[in-house]
Amino acid sequence: MIRRARVKVQGVVQGVGFRPFVYGLAVRLGLAGHVLNDVGGVFIEVEGEDTGIEAFLNALRDCPPPMARVQSIHSAYMNPTGESAFRILESATRGSVRVVVSPDLAVCGDCVAELENTRNRRHRHAFINCTNCGPRYTIIESVPYDRARTTMAEFDMCPQCRAEYADPRNRRFHAEATCCPDCGPRLDITDPHGRAIACDDPMREAVRRLAAGQILAVKGIGGFHLACDATNEQAVRELRRRKRRDLKPFAVMAASKMQAMRVGVFNEDEKWLLKSAERPIVLVRRHTRAPERIAEEVAPRNARIGIMLPYTPIHHMLFEDSLHLLVMTSGNATDEPIAHENDDAYLRLGELADAFLIHNRRIHVRTDDSVMQVVAGAPRFLRRSRGYAPFPVQLDADTSASEILAVGAELNGAACLTRAGQAYISHHLGDLDHLAAWEAFHQAVETLCRTLDVVPAAVACDLHPAYATTRHARGLGLPVVAVQHHHAHIASVLAESGRDGPVIGVSFDGFGWGDDGNAWGGEFLVCDLAEYRRVGCIAPVPQPGGDAAAKRPARTGYVMLREAFGAEEAAGLADRLLPALAAEERRVIDDMIEHGVNCPSSTSAGRLFDAAAALCGLCDANTYHAQAPMELEGAAWSAKAESGYYPVQPREDGALLQLPGVDIIRGLVADRLAGVPAPLCAARFHNALARAAVAVCAKLRSNTGLSTVALSGGVFANAWLLGLMTAMLQENGFEVLANAVVPPGDGGISLGQAAVAARRLSCV
Ligand SMILES: [Zn+2]
Ligand SMILES: [Zn+2]
Repeated sequence: MIRRARVKVQGVVQGVGFRPFVYGLAVRLGLAGHVLNDVGGVFIEVEGEDTGIEAFLNALRDCPPPMARVQSIHSAYMNPTGESAFRILESATRGSVRVVVSPDLAVCGDCVAELENTRNRRHRHAFINCTNCGPRYTIIESVPYDRARTTMAEFDMCPQCRAEYADPRNRRFHAEATCCPDCGPRLDITDPHGRAIACDDPMREAVRRLAAGQILAVKGIGGFHLACDATNEQAVRELRRRKRRDLKPFAVMAASKMQAMRVGVFNEDEKWLLKSAERPIVLVRRHTRAPERIAEEVAPRNARIGIMLPYTPIHHMLFEDSLHLLVMTSGNATDEPIAHENDDAYLRLGELADAFLIHNRRIHVRTDDSVMQVVAGAPRFLRRSRGYAPFPVQLDADTSASEILAVGAELNGAACLTRAGQAYISHHLGDLDHLAAWEAFHQAVETLCRTLDVVPAAVACDLHPAYATTRHARGLGLPVVAVQHHHAHIASVLAESGRDGPVIGVSFDGFGWGDDGNAWGGEFLVCDLAEYRRVGCIAPVPQPGGDAAAKRPARTGYVMLREAFGAEEAAGLADRLLPALAAEERRVIDDMIEHGVNCPSSTSAGRLFDAAAALCGLCDANTYHAQAPMELEGAAWSAKAESGYYPVQPREDGALLQLPGVDIIRGLVADRLAGVPAPLCAARFHNALARAAVAVCAKLRSNTGLSTVALSGGVFANAWLLGLMTAMLQENGFEVLANAVVPPGDGGISLGQAAVAARRLSCV
């Protein structure tokens, strides 16, 4: 029987080869009809034998094109029209936008094969791409996704490219960024002042310079990288010196999976992540006896290393000759957003690079590389940006009546905007106390509003009154939902797991504004999306100097010695264990504590890690965010099988359960005085904290009957702790939820804010 069906497909379905796929499928099944993109998604009508239509619908659902992410397929039958051919119709642009902009995707295997094929007309074409790969989010200026609305609009297609673009059987059919050496953007190499360097081939010149030990600024898909040969000690040391980045690890790009495995130890999940089209930096354990020597300065004092594979044609060509491992670090000053415009890059990177490998395709939205690690069997974000932004999270609330802008916190900024119950999280914006990051924040919000066609009706922010994001939110003239920092962390886990709670939330991080005005950071909550109750915390300790304490772990180490052993004994212990802390500095701290001057109390888990790292002799000053905790974790990784721990006795303080960090410190100090090596102490510290936290959860389970625990907060970027606590909680019969869609740190907090606001506003 002849029938006709109308089909609507929503999700990431534009710019991913969906229409040619539909065309090919319909023609193969002998169906007539048409397909078109519009602001609501992909619309299809198919007519033919009902068995053919059924097969068509099954294929849409079961095997869509590799880069598509289908969220819904709706179909309905209608009257046949007697049509005999299948056609692709022009895009419609009216109505409200409902498609999802695709993230950027690594250059595909077909394109790489053409890139390397001397007989192909795109041989060594630095901008090769097709409907299955290439830039998307970074070049789209508005929607629906069409060349005219991208930064490729200024390049006119040559007749041959145009013919491919118009041919439904071609891999480049409506590949909006398609081009060739005749009609595409141009690659150039310049000196740090933007003056062209005379050469036959900018690419070969760049490779020659890298091989000779130079530092190059390389324009990629979401911004500039600073690159140098990772095996060249001197080049890496020089890059570190110029970037004034004392110890923060650099990421490495490896020519191939094989090369990557000569540097790092990958399990199957990590290999899969490394090769995925999103191409994140994957943080893995370093080979202890690596067959490939990379410069020590790439990741000093670190048991792990971040590795990624090439993801643009330019990257592939950097490895054409002798190079096989490159340092590829974001082209920025530390904690600022990545440079992405040519002029800006010369300004900001001119002193850092010996030469610039650039091109004239504009980057509309900058994205840093995403950073991931595999913990407890799941890939997890440390930074979520290129390849993932702005793919949304489905909320368990319809926000259509009042769409929400969530502005996040302050460090690791990322904004979030809802549309019809989906939460779209921007790319990583850097630390918002930097001017450049603050500008990026505004641009990101504006881009989200425009590409999603949403005008927010409410705004969600942190409780901290002094955050720039909070002040911005309060100045918008919209209803404000202020969400407590740690509640938002736990809510981010609930939102991405599709849960509403209630759960036991364990939120360990550096600092968040408590609803009592105190500094919180080691919190146990009983919460759902709407509300929370604080039921436990790490026992508060004085934090002389407030936030500034985060820069000096040795000071926090000394404060913990005082708390654990009393002022008198602490002085003697500090002489032995904290030699970097001058007696004068100790006296200042004593004074501040004894007179209560600038000395708020804090329950921070991050500061507890700082203290332990300092007392282990690993780190007395943080040269980058969370350095001491990372070094303590790194030390624990090298003492793998250690099961010892320091006993901790949780106490009840009224309705609040307290986990006394001083108990852990006492055990650790005893070990240090007995000469136990730092890695063993670090492992025992992690074991002790995990055991104590699980004991608090068990007590809370018996009080509340809840047996699901959600873990979030920046401290859970610590893979060692997250793995340990997940395993211990599961052994004790808990269900464990942890972040896998957004980072556990403040980069994921805007999602939690949006989820809480959505729930509170829908309850009103
Ligand atoms: Zn391709
Ligand atoms: Zn062309």
